[in-house]
Amino acid sequence: MIRLVDFTKQNRLLNKKLIRAIEKVIDNQKYILGPEVEMFEREFAKYCGAKYTVGVGSGSDALLLSLRALGIKSGAEIITVANTFISTVLPILHVGARPILVDADPNTLSMDISLIEKKITARTKVIIPVHLFGLPVDMDPLLRLAKIFNLSIIEDACQAHGAKYKGRTVGSIGDIGCFSFYPSKNLGAFGDAGAVITNKKYIADSVGLLRNVGQKEKNIHSVIGYNSKLDTIQAAILLTKLPYLSRWIKQRRAIASYYTTNLSGLPLVLPSEPDYALASYHLYVIRTKHRDRLKEYLQKHDIARGIHFPIPIHLQPCMRILGYKKGDFPVSEKVSSEVLSLPLYPEMTKREQDTVILHIKKFFKGN
Ligand SMILES: *Cc1c(COP(=O)(O)O)cnc(C)c1O
Repeated sequence: MIRLVDFTKQNRLLNKKLIRAIEKVIDNQKYILGPEVEMFEREFAKYCGAKYTVGVGSGSDALLLSLRALGIKSGAEIITVANTFISTVLPILHVGARPILVDADPNTLSMDISLIEKKITARTKVIIPVHLFGLPVDMDPLLRLAKIFNLSIIEDACQAHGAKYKGRTVGSIGDIGCFSFYPSKNLGAFGDAGAVITNKKYIADSVGLLRNVGQKEKNIHSVIGYNSKLDTIQAAILLTKLPYLSRWIKQRRAIASYYTTNLSGLPLVLPSEPDYALASYHLYVIRTKHRDRLKEYLQKHDIARGIHFPIPIHLQPCMRILGYKKGDFPVSEKVSSEVLSLPLYPEMTKREQDTVILHIKKFFKGN
């Protein structure tokens, strides 16, 4: 069986270091906001080229606390994309603001930035670009719009740790960058975890308050906060894994490149990388009209595959309140029936990749 993501080798390699890091937390008894949290925050900020990192409970909470730190509340409009994970959009609703969606670009599958300007109104406060699958969004046009219309940019970098846009690490380009350390992400904890990065002290301070029940000093609660701190044990795990992240991204890129070389020529649309981008390949997503049959075929041959994402945001049952309908975002709708994510993780072997490639070739020969 070839899995979509397989941690067996990575866990074996890091086992001793991880156990030692966890034991240290257990012995130290600083289970909440222990020293590992601050150590990880410092290291992750350095890795991203940002001034501040604040560790939080998840990527979803990173987005929620970021919106709160910017003072977003009901009446505000937040522009983001229809082709993303639900957690990009849920926090907008949680603060009472209104998500304004744009369609995906048919080449990159992420936000079509040419559609944004006409959605900007006097109520627009924030744009949330999503670096989908680890491919950076073209940020310069967004930064220009943000400047002209006085908007903030929150990068949803939950799938894009270490990806680069014109040499800059994503998450550090806009006002705020949000990361998830959900286990299968490029840098994964052993549970839920997330982080906010920023160069602005007032935002880092604000998120720091919000994550800790709004507590400025013990028992003084200055804002309506949340309980969404990065766990000390998860921080210790992330701190152990972070030194390997650059190598893992190189391995992901090599695996992606091998897929691209060997799958070209088949009736598939393969991921591409614009000049401005150095993608971190959280996912390798191919497209075909025969998606559902290819999916079954691979399953029959013990090859796992994913679909990111089968239903665009505006057609999710919980998003009916937004008033969108089928046909509103045709690119997102079309690709949701065509996308297929192939197995990809840093330790994947050439042999495993060859098996995946062979079966995809066989499938198309039989068609
Ligand atoms: C994973 C993910 C999130 C949310 O992260 P969690 O840690 O699971 O809350 C948000 N946005 C995108 C694009 C993601 O892939």
